[in-house]
Formats: sequence, structure tokens, C-alpha cells
Amino acid sequence: MENYWIQLKTLIDQSQKIVLTTHVRPDGDGLGAEAALFSYFESLGKIVRIINVSPLPEAFDYMNKDARFETFNTTIHAHILENADCTIILDCNQLDRTEEMAPYVERTKGNIVVIDHHLYPGDFADLLCIDINSCATGEMVYDFITFHSGKMTVSQDAATGIYTSIMTDTGNFRFPRTTPAVHRKTAYLIESGVEPSEIYGWVNEQRTLQSLQLQGLFLSQIRTAYDGRLAYSVVKKSDFDRFGATLEDSEGFVKYLLSVKGVVMGILLIEQPYGYKLSFRSKGDIDVNRLASQYSGGGHKNASGGKMEEMTDHAIARLIADAEPILNAMEITE
Ligand code: 5GP
Ligand code: MN
Repeated sequence: MENYWIQLKTLIDQSQKIVLTTHVRPDGDGLGAEAALFSYFESLGKIVRIINVSPLPEAFDYMNKDARFETFNTTIHAHILENADCTIILDCNQLDRTEEMAPYVERTKGNIVVIDHHLYPGDFADLLCIDINSCATGEMVYDFITFHSGKMTVSQDAATGIYTSIMTDTGNFRFPRTTPAVHRKTAYLIESGVEPSEIYGWVNEQRTLQSLQLQGLFLSQIRTAYDGRLAYSVVKKSDFDRFGATLEDSEGFVKYLLSVKGVVMGILLIEQPYGYKLSFRSKGDIDVNRLASQYSGGGHKNASGGKMEEMTDHAIARLIADAEPILNAMEITE
């Protein structure tokens, strides 16, 4: 990665106006990476803006120091995007995942940089910093900041963002990419002033009642297939309406599918105005990214997402049928 960081350092050193963004419906990783870079670049005297197509989910309010997270608005932000010296897209390797911001990002007079850890990046950036072995984009941001500063610790503000990224994208330090190196970097974050139990509480212990009630329904609707190796659940708009719940309230449901004994692939279908939003999760060598790519999506081998416009039982049956060859493919796919 060092070669990337040398190139990125040159770009950053030449840039004054920097825009940071991430994908639609941002998660803790993208947001934490943005907060950390915002803090670090401001400390270097840069003019930095975080502009996201989606508003900041309430759980992450603790990172919104000085109202640094802005929600894209053409009138306010079009010229900022156009005139940025450098636009950094975090935790996202497809420009269209910035949705209505995409044409403005594309038109920028400056450089476009991607810092990300997903498979199969699109071809739209001047500098692609991709490390699919990184547990989180925030880990890569830590690597860059420490490369740039020459110090292993960072400011408490930046550390809070990076810790949030790593904690959320490793499922609280348990996914396979949570290597000894990740724990060592995390140790430096704690030395930088991060409070792990506080961040855990902010992110994971602020559930709304309607979210828990919807979760109860989601759990009761889980079905299995292929000898109990696949679990799936469909959450309809009427289910959301019953509890007054929003899409944000269903965040994290998909992980329960893999907690069923014997299940190695989980599919969550959530009704949206356009059809179903699909979330795929798998264990080991089962590559759900292949399934996601058949459904206008992508992501990682063990966690990916997509969409399905047709909402009939027949379409659901086809999705389950499409999962079978992937469930049965035992070869290792990178
Ligand atoms: P989730 O199921 O949590 O929405 O998404 C899981 C993973 O799949 C994330 O890493 C996310 O970046 C990726 N992902 C989700 N939806 C899409 C999509 O529509 N397109 C692409 N390329 N990736 C997606
Ligand atoms: Mn990520």
C-alpha cells in the first residue's frame, strides 16, 4: 500500500480544498473514515467539507463535531464539488453509489481519489487506493494518516472516527480480517484517547423500540432452504408501517440469519419503493458477491448487497434458486 500513500501524500500536499464523501446509506466505516480525515486535514490547514448524499444516521451524531457532516444539496454543494482540488470517496468503489451527487463529482476540476476495501472497483478515479485485505476503510485511513504524520498515535477526534470504522466493519472485532495488526492499530487508537465502551454504547445501544419490535417480526419470518444452509427473511412495507419503523431501524438484522445453527448464507429482502433491497451474508468460501452482482449490486465475498425490482413470490423463488449454485460452489474465489 505504501506506493499508494506516497501518491496520495503528493496529491494532498498540493490540495487546499478537499471534499470527502461516501456511499448512499452510509455506515460506521464510511462515516468514521470521513470524520478522521476531516479532522486530520483540518489540522493541516486545509479547507475540508464532508458532503454525503444521505443524512447522518442519528447513532453517529457523536462524530458530528462542528456540524461537519453535510447532506448534499445541489444549490449549496454543486460548485463546491466542481471546484474542489481533491475529492476523496471512502468505503465506496462505484461512483453511482453516490447517487445524485455522482454527476457533480464526475465534473470536478480536481482529482478524484478512492480509498476502499471492496472488490471490483469502477474506473472513474485518478487514484485508486484499494486494499481488499483491510478490515475497514478506516484502517486504511489510519495507515495513511500515520504514514503522512510519521506518528503511530492520532488526535482523539481522528481516533474516534477510525475506531468507529474498525469496530463497525469488524462486527465488534470478530470478523476474519480482524488480524493482530488491526488489534495493534486499535491499541494506538486507545492510546490516542478513544473510549471503546462509550463508542460501543453510542453505536449499538441506542436502538429504537420500533426497531426491536420490527426485529421480532423479522426473526419470526425467517425461512430456511437447502437443508438449513440458507436462511432468508422478507420484511414488507406493511411490517415497517405496523411499528412506525424506518429503513434505518432494520440496520443489522441480516447478521441474525447467520447465527442460526448450520446456516452459511443469509438473504434479507427489504421492501422499498423500487422493489426489494437485498442484503447477502455468507460464511467462509461462499461468495455472495457473485450473487449480488447478478442483482445490480456488489460488495465483499461474505457481505454484499443489491436490488430486485420484481416483487412477486416467483421473483423471490428465483432469487433463492440463484443462490443454490453459489451455496454449492466449493472452490475458493477471491
Ligand atoms: P448491506 O447488506 O449492509 O446493505 O451491504 C453489505 C455490503 O454490500 C456493503 O459492503 C456494501 O458496501 C455492499 N453493497 C450493498 N448494496 C450495494 C449495492 O447496491 N451496490 C454495491 N456495489 N455494493 C453494495
Ligand atoms: Mn467498509
